[in-house]
Amino acid sequence: MKKNILSLMKPEVVAIKQQDIFKFNARAKAIPDVINMTIGEPSFTTPDHIKLAAIKAIEDNKTHYTVPEGDHELLNAVASYLHTKYDLNYDPESEIIATTGVTEGVFSAFNAILQPGDEVLIPSPSFTIYGPDANFNRATPVYIDTSKTGFKVTPDVLDEIMRTHPRIKIFLFNYPSNPTGVSYTHDELAGLADVLRKYDVFVLSDEIYSELTYNFKHEAFAKFLPEQTLLLNGLSKSHAMTGWRFGVVCGPAEIISQINKIHELATTSITSITQAAALEAYKNGLDDSIKMREEYCRRRDVLAAGLTKLGFECPDPDGAFYLFGKIPEGLEQDDVKLCFDVLEQEHLAILPGSYFGIGGEGHIRFSYASSMENIEGCIKKLGEYVATHIHT
Ligand code: PLP
Repeated sequence: MKKNILSLMKPEVVAIKQQDIFKFNARAKAIPDVINMTIGEPSFTTPDHIKLAAIKAIEDNKTHYTVPEGDHELLNAVASYLHTKYDLNYDPESEIIATTGVTEGVFSAFNAILQPGDEVLIPSPSFTIYGPDANFNRATPVYIDTSKTGFKVTPDVLDEIMRTHPRIKIFLFNYPSNPTGVSYTHDELAGLADVLRKYDVFVLSDEIYSELTYNFKHEAFAKFLPEQTLLLNGLSKSHAMTGWRFGVVCGPAEIISQINKIHELATTSITSITQAAALEAYKNGLDDSIKMREEYCRRRDVLAAGLTKLGFECPDPDGAFYLFGKIPEGLEQDDVKLCFDVLEQEHLAILPGSYFGIGGEGHIRFSYASSMENIEGCIKKLGEYVATHIHT
């Protein structure tokens, strides 16, 4: 492309780099017999009754524009799920909108809230879209390194940062966490809410892994701090529906109506067929995720035991489908170098922790969304690598 044409583009967009993860995965894909443990999406398929609801929607010609916020029967079903599951009382008429996944929910919320010079507070390591989304809105991401506190934010650290950064407009909270798999107990959430209540700040609570918790019950942050929290959730992980692109943003009506304006400008609405599938998931598919969760739990236990034997220490794997292992002493401590070396020598793809930002250095993210066969293969190959490379 001609240089002068590129110079017409927004510098914030030009500055967005191709993510390291994509480059790593491209290399992994080029190796035919690779065992891939990098995958961030369910290995299951969307349940049949949900697929059939979508097919029926097409046959019934539900193929036209819908209202921007989403079909109201669907929003009602979401409200009723959130009430039954978390005792939340969102008004489906004004406090919930359907978005193109949590990804679009984060984007539209950032766009509606942030002004140039604002700051977004992000516990790190973190899911990779939050920082670029902030930058794109000419805001600055401020990262909290959680590696010294079990990969969790503590009230003391949070309070100190909020006190000294008056430009923070959004605290981006994600639990269970990608990439670390940690989650928060009732008391930990209450402690963070007590701090945030003192400040004029929104909490964007990305709870996309809420159905995948293993050690204790997931609680919604909105229950602790309703007037400041925007709850983001969806069906990608719970119902193996990543490709359908369905999410919700829930919160106080006056904020949701502002976010809905951006959402409408960007998308008009989410796909009508996806809305039919999502309605079926909320009405008749709430048990679908139970079997998947049980299987993830089995895989987690096998992977965690195998990694521990090899000397990889992991923080408490409470949820999602990730283990975040600390590289044992005696092995290459540069996580990027180590992962490329393991990829080339063992044909095993695992992701460097530093790809997820500050605090991730010296760690590796293992996804147990991969099959049990892959998990066993991973332990075997990593075991061979460790045996031949570790020095005491
Ligand atoms: N939030 C987190 C923490 C994720 O890990 C992911 C996907 O990996 C998403 C959001 C994307 O969610 P969605 O498919 O609803 O856009």
